[in-house]
Amino acid sequence: MATHYDYFGQRDDTRVVEPVDKAKTSITKPKSKSNLTLSEAMPILMYHHIKNTDKSINALERGLSVPVPMFEEQMQLIHDLGFETMLMKDMTDETLKANEGKKLVITFDDGYEDIYTEAFPIMKQYGFAGVIYLITNDINKKGYLSEKQISELIDAGFEIGSHTLSHPNLASAGIYYAQMQIENSKKNLDAMFEYNVTSFCYPSGKYNDRVVGLLKAAGYTNAVTTVEGFAGPKSNLYTLPRMRVRGTGKLADFAYKILSN
Ligand SMILES: [Zn+2]
Repeated sequence: MATHYDYFGQRDDTRVVEPVDKAKTSITKPKSKSNLTLSEAMPILMYHHIKNTDKSINALERGLSVPVPMFEEQMQLIHDLGFETMLMKDMTDETLKANEGKKLVITFDDGYEDIYTEAFPIMKQYGFAGVIYLITNDINKKGYLSEKQISELIDAGFEIGSHTLSHPNLASAGIYYAQMQIENSKKNLDAMFEYNVTSFCYPSGKYNDRVVGLLKAAGYTNAVTTVEGFAGPKSNLYTLPRMRVRGTGKLADFAYKILSN
């Protein structure tokens, strides 16, 4: 037991002072994984389905789904932390440098219908807008967004980007095939929605230097991958990392993910 003296210099043996175990009490800050400061680190969140699932839904789809109440909690948290959503079309080297820890991007891959039916009403409450990467051949198909729904999302401030015509692996595709997928998906979307698509998402995250060259030639200004991590001032605009949001775990795990550079 350690001896303790009170303010008058008298021994006070009635107080028990636990010996300080340095190893237990010292708080060790987690090491930065990205070498970014928190104000430089920009989360680009990657979602697929926002939907409640059960065992009747196949494992692949369940793995790509974030339940609706969980998504709602995440949006509330993002709002409470003071983040503002930004769009990929506004992403430049300058915006990556002047992030100040306040900007965040919400992306949805593949263009599923639940973005409109589930995610949109929740995001609207917080004034958030997101980026939807569309597989153009799947628009209007069952389970995917319709032309009408996409138009409404655009009117509400959402951005549309290309996820190719049919979701092939561009890294292993022949160059003319890859070029057709990259150019024609943009042409289709631009014509369908009187839009100028500038954002791209590599199907299954597969790309190489040749694919990046094709994107630049076709008029895209940015592209996202499935590499896990924060975007930052030194990020390459054509190989931006993202953070996959899974439908498992707690809100605290999500908070840790977007706040732990
Ligand atoms: Zn995809």
